[in-house]
Amino acid sequence: MVVRIGVIGTGAIGREHIRRISERLKGARVVAVNDVDRQQAQAVVETLGLEARIHDDGNALIASSEVDAVIVSSWGPTHEAFVLAAIAAGKPVFCEKPLAVTAQGCRQIVDAEMAAGRKLVQVGFMRRFDFAYRQLKQVLDSGDLGEALILNCAHRNPEAPGFSGDMALTDSCVHEFDVLRWLLDNDDYVSAQVITPRRTRLSEAELQDPHVILLRTRNGVHISIESFVNCRYGYDIQCQVVCEMGTASLPEPASVPVRHEARLSREVLTNWKDRFLTAFDVEFQEWIDATAAGEMHGPSAWDGYVVAVTSDACVKAKHSGRIEPIELPERPAFYRS
Ligand code: NAP
Repeated sequence: MVVRIGVIGTGAIGREHIRRISERLKGARVVAVNDVDRQQAQAVVETLGLEARIHDDGNALIASSEVDAVIVSSWGPTHEAFVLAAIAAGKPVFCEKPLAVTAQGCRQIVDAEMAAGRKLVQVGFMRRFDFAYRQLKQVLDSGDLGEALILNCAHRNPEAPGFSGDMALTDSCVHEFDVLRWLLDNDDYVSAQVITPRRTRLSEAELQDPHVILLRTRNGVHISIESFVNCRYGYDIQCQVVCEMGTASLPEPASVPVRHEARLSREVLTNWKDRFLTAFDVEFQEWIDATAAGEMHGPSAWDGYVVAVTSDACVKAKHSGRIEPIELPERPAFYRS
């Protein structure tokens, strides 16, 4: 079966997803696209030589009998309505993060999906599909190191043009919030504290950077995430897990050690797209395969909801200066399988 996909939002990442489905992945075809900017959608179709219908309305794309499954990669505030429409139409939907821009919106999606009685939603947390994170999880799951006690993580970008306010917490660290909970087998967060160290002089005016986010889980695991989105030197994702009988760290991306002019050096990536290129491919291939089989295995609507509640608590903690509770209802049985 070839899954016929409709894509809503042909901006930067929507275009990348259309290209990867059309040129690198198997088992799917992009048959419909929509963007508020019709000319942009048209240009994408022409540039990639697609045989795809251009819809003026995302809801019409979702309703189309030519479309089996939907990708939502439009601007964040539009996600919730499109995902709800896809659920109402009974179609699998892959939604780029955020699932919705409020925790309440995510909760509505969770409730709609449970009412539909079938898992239809996958959220675009691609780190779970990254080879390095999967290797790290394998080591933790082996049990050889005992239980995890402390996680020391860093999320560093060379620069963050367009970042404002609390975006480091709500837009960028959401990937850590998802992948760390996944590494810890859904050990939910119970509290958040956000420390605002001395500000780098190299960030945009008024932007607090770096942040240190401290999370505690139900099992008492202590997590520290340094978010530094103007670190200048490169795109650098770090994660070290301290366990009872050893430590395990996220492997570095492969690079050639160079000895030259009395120096030993290795390249550091500068772009998140290069770091997670393969993860995006794996993420979409697995989603296509699961969709063709009538299944859904990736990050769920519930995971999207947990991340939204967590980032809300982090924003609150940053502004209150206090340790704020993260209050989550029990994970419904629907999301445990
Ligand atoms: P972008 O370049 O601004 O693309 C968003 C596109 O959606 C734009 O073409 C925009 O049109 C269009 N759009 C806005 N409202 C729409 C509507 N009502 N119906 C249809 N299309 C609409 O942004 P992006 O970087 O591709 O990001 C898109 C989403 O992906 C965001 O939610 C972002 O957080 C997420 N993302 C995820 C990752 C990841 O690591 N997983 C990485 C990057 C982005 P206009 O430009 O005309 O407004």
